[in-house]
Amino acid sequence: MAKKFACGDVVNGCKWSATASDEGELFQKISEHAKNDHNMTAIPDEIIQKVKSKIQDSP
Ligand SMILES: [Zn+2]
Repeated sequence: MAKKFACGDVVNGCKWSATASDEGELFQKISEHAKNDHNMTAIPDEIIQKVKSKIQDSP
């Protein structure tokens, strides 16, 4: 099932969101966005857990 994530659920005020065909692909998009727009070269574990909890199924 496709997955979606809205960055604003984790980062206050961020309007970015993404959908992907699976969680792995979605995480790639998220880490790219985190690097480019939030200057996170490495994503801390607690952020990954937060992100995971906010990933939703996309119809
Ligand atoms: Zn963001």
